[in-house]
Amino acid sequence: MEDSKKKPIMIAVIIVCLGVAGAVTFLRSGGSEGGIDSLSDDKMTWVNCNNPQCKAEYEMSEKQYFKGIEERMNPAAMLSTPALVCEKCDEPSVYKAFKCGNPSCSAVFFANSVPNDFADRCPECKRSETEEIRKARKAGGP
Ligand SMILES: [Zn+2]
Ligand SMILES: [Zn+2]
Repeated sequence: MEDSKKKPIMIAVIIVCLGVAGAVTFLRSGGSEGGIDSLSDDKMTWVNCNNPQCKAEYEMSEKQYFKGIEERMNPAAMLSTPALVCEKCDEPSVYKAFKCGNPSCSAVFFANSVPNDFADRCPECKRSETEEIRKARKAGGP
């Protein structure tokens, strides 16, 4: 088969797979037993591609992220979070990331970019959302 003909077929296969996944999700969400299915579809999380040739940063729903993790979780390596397949480069190199809350920075970075510090410490401007929240709590009394 010529390469030019392969691509539309690939896309068709992907669309069919997505359709099936959507149907399964729909069926599963019928029984509300909590877990990943109880997560809101609206809650977004940032992910960052670790492939040096790609470095994509994009938002996906947290639910979709955890589903991906669940599917890719290797029982032999429970301690390490598996990477998701990047929607840009198709490599399994996407990890959950934080977006800096500093409006003049807005860097997207991996958790624990600054060792021995808050996981969401920005390596660019050193802002940590967790720290900001704690500071605000301290300032705002009990
Ligand atoms: Zn990528
Ligand atoms: Zn920053």
